Amino acid sequence: MTKTIRVAVPGPFPEPLDYLVPLRMPLPPRGSRVRVPLGRRELVGVVTAAPTTSNLPSDRLRTIITVLDDEPLLDEEMTSLIEWAAHYYHHPPGDAYLAALPVRLRQGQPAEPAIESAWAITAEGREINPHALERRAPRQAALLEALQAEGSLSTARLAGFDGDARGALQRLVERGLASLTQAPDYGLILGRGEESNLTLNEEQVEAARAIQPGPGHEVVLIDGVTGSGKTEVYLDAIARALTQGLQTLIIVPEIGLTPQLVRRFQQRLSGRIAVLHSGLGDGERLNAWLAARAGEADVIIGTRSAAFVPLPRPGLIVIDEEHDASLKQQEGFRYSARDLAVLRAHRLDIPVVLGSATPSLESLENVRRGRYTCCRLRQRAGEARPPVIQLLDMRGQPTQDGLSRPLVEQIQRHLQANGQVLLFLNRRGFAPTLICHECGWLAECDRCDARYTYHRGRRRLQCHHCDRDRPVPHHCPSCGSVDLRPLGLGTERIETALQAAFPDTPPARIDRDSTRRRGSFERQMEAARRGETRLLLGTQMLAKGHHLPAVTLVAIIDADQGLFGADFRAPERLAQLVVQVAGRAGRAERAGEVAIQTHHPEHPLLQMLVHGGYPAFAEAALAEREAAGLPPARAMALLRAEATSREAPQAFLKSALAEAPHDPRVERLGPYPAPMERRAGRYRAQVMLQSDLRAPLQNLLTQWLPALGSLPEARRVRWSIDVDPAET
Ligand code: ADP
Ligand code: ZN
Ligand code: ZN
Repeated sequence: MTKTIRVAVPGPFPEPLDYLVPLRMPLPPRGSRVRVPLGRRELVGVVTAAPTTSNLPSDRLRTIITVLDDEPLLDEEMTSLIEWAAHYYHHPPGDAYLAALPVRLRQGQPAEPAIESAWAITAEGREINPHALERRAPRQAALLEALQAEGSLSTARLAGFDGDARGALQRLVERGLASLTQAPDYGLILGRGEESNLTLNEEQVEAARAIQPGPGHEVVLIDGVTGSGKTEVYLDAIARALTQGLQTLIIVPEIGLTPQLVRRFQQRLSGRIAVLHSGLGDGERLNAWLAARAGEADVIIGTRSAAFVPLPRPGLIVIDEEHDASLKQQEGFRYSARDLAVLRAHRLDIPVVLGSATPSLESLENVRRGRYTCCRLRQRAGEARPPVIQLLDMRGQPTQDGLSRPLVEQIQRHLQANGQVLLFLNRRGFAPTLICHECGWLAECDRCDARYTYHRGRRRLQCHHCDRDRPVPHHCPSCGSVDLRPLGLGTERIETALQAAFPDTPPARIDRDSTRRRGSFERQMEAARRGETRLLLGTQMLAKGHHLPAVTLVAIIDADQGLFGADFRAPERLAQLVVQVAGRAGRAERAGEVAIQTHHPEHPLLQMLVHGGYPAFAEAALAEREAAGLPPARAMALLRAEATSREAPQAFLKSALAEAPHDPRVERLGPYPAPMERRAGRYRAQVMLQSDLRAPLQNLLTQWLPALGSLPEARRVRWSIDVDPAET
């Protein structure tokens, strides 16, 4: 008899679909991929149940086309994790499955690493002193030395050698010193496991002791000021996982996964390291994922999507910069990599470490409730001392393109004392907009409720919300005046001001515009690290996570933009940003200063940060959230809708609310327009749902959402649900 299986296929299906397996085919097990017909298309799906019984008569079921994996691609831990996430975030299971897989596997390609030629050292090769070859065959000598050190060399590794490396290897093979093999190449980085020359301080030792890789679940929050040596604590714990033969998964925000960080791990850890981030090619991502799955990778460092990397011998999970908003996916499958990692660690019964200098209020609340263990690192490691923060009152101050006189003088002092200065402004371009000095016309994007940013270097206006881009007008489209002036501050403008004020010290601007070319960001950061560039200016690209030992002064050009944001998390984000940026100062022996330019020096948030630091801010903010009934005190979800007309999203959300099951424990707000109502030509509206407990909110969503797709108004909008939204 033909068997029936259930397959999660991509598409807006709330449940997996049933298919038949022809008699001649083996029954594909749960967690394996199959190719199935859907309408007139062929899709790759993942088997969720086999065999099963269908509620539909078998003559209404279609038959699968091929089985793509003989063995389950995903083990039970992975399938149940993905299904849990699909359920919790109310995302179609087929889409969730596909989002969790590397692109190549989504496309149905085999789950096998590329087979590459590799050269291995022979017993004879081990005995020869490479220096004996050096004079007559320097290339062979270099390769032999590398072979002796590394055991084998992959094709990819040959790029690291000059000249005809293949030819030289061929001669080593002819001499019997090397042999040519065909081996799977996962592209792993070989850790060197070098001894550390520093001793952990007391606080670090205590934090490290709280992390015991292997069986036993615990969530450890490392609340450690910038430069307190959190990474050293991770390294210590990961090294212990390695000696137990266990894998570690490390998740970092996109911006934090720098070559510098990877090098540090490579230098200090002895295992094989896989790296996973969006800058890699599809093949490399597949390799890293497969290496984790095969247990070939001991340490996996990745960004958000690494939360879905299989771990056959798990020992530890680390989330660095756990407060970072980029750990939450903002479109499609809107999962939080941090929250999923914590759940995973719980199910795997292993510890998970959350690290930050500015922990999220969510995590601090979990500490307060006794769910997480908290280890504080209050001292900076080594000789470094905490910076002194000072507010520069901008009211009534004459400024030159955003730089106040006291700030210019302060920069001067630091440059003269041979210090390095870092200026931070979270806005690229020359100015946030252009204004007509005659009539007040503003250069507004015609597709967004936003203004065009003026890019003077490129001589373009660009909308940073929809990317539309147009030439700078010669005259005002409203009154014809040619007196168009830049309004407000961007990094290009500060760069100009710095060039004028410090003609002998050329500033280095580091933002998305100045680092478009591949490798250019790395080069600029390297020059900054070596102290070659004395005057640094940039956006958060520059501010986050980098260790710049020579910086003595950090200046925040404009704190005001973050003080009055619409999102309830705006104060938290500003506080985190200020503390993170301030943390770049005085990372080594020299004491640091931090200057914050503001028109609101008496603002409670700034006062709290200056006098009590992040802990004082966080305590006050948690009390405020509690009083206002906002997360983390309550659970939240947003139903969003958008369309090209203003009415359609509102109409959809109104009918949707009329359909919602009644539960007095779930509060509803809206529909109301999104904070930026129009973006990229689409109007956006939303409904907010809140509840003291997660369960009633989840139950309501489970009952409610499946019905929304069949509302007549649904056909005129794009809608989505966001559970635990990072942006409201
Ligand atoms: P974080 O991750 O908290 O920002 P890091 O682990 O990167 O801090 O450490 C910051 C700097 O201090 C690094 O250069 C690191 O080598 C150094 N460091 C860390 N721990 C110690 C220690 N116990 N003794 C001396 N230097 C240390
Ligand atoms: Zn726009
Ligand atoms: Zn005008």
